[in-house]
Amino acid sequence: MNCIFCRIIKKEIPSKIVYEDELVLAFEDIAPQAPVHILVIPKKHYSTLLEIEDKELIGHIFMVIKKIAKEKGIDERGFRVVMNCNHEAGQTVYHVHFHLLAGRQMHWPPG
Ligand code: ADP
Repeated sequence: MNCIFCRIIKKEIPSKIVYEDELVLAFEDIAPQAPVHILVIPKKHYSTLLEIEDKELIGHIFMVIKKIAKEKGIDERGFRVVMNCNHEAGQTVYHVHFHLLAGRQMHWPPG
């Protein structure tokens, strides 16, 4: 498997980990698009959201996002969660991941 995020999970590639448990890993994005830009990923490899049938996993990911937001102190000011699915949405890494973005005013619609 030549998936960059699987290699980050295995610690073969360094990352700045902010949260880890048996199901998920959260780490800082290498090219941050906001003062806070964290990626939350399942440890099990799924290329896109379309492959995931595990509702508990999705729920757990959002609970982790909430926990990180509170720990980072961005919960009251606000944060954005983005998941790009497939090429037209801009997905470039095919290991499903949720972007947690915060620390600046967000705009709508996104580009
Ligand atoms: P996009 O690249 O358009 O943001 P994705 O939604 O697929 O598309 O996001 C992939 C994200 O993974 C990007 O924000 C990118 O900066 C990040 N990324 C790629 N390689 C690494 C890495 N080694 N460590 C941390 N983040 C990474």
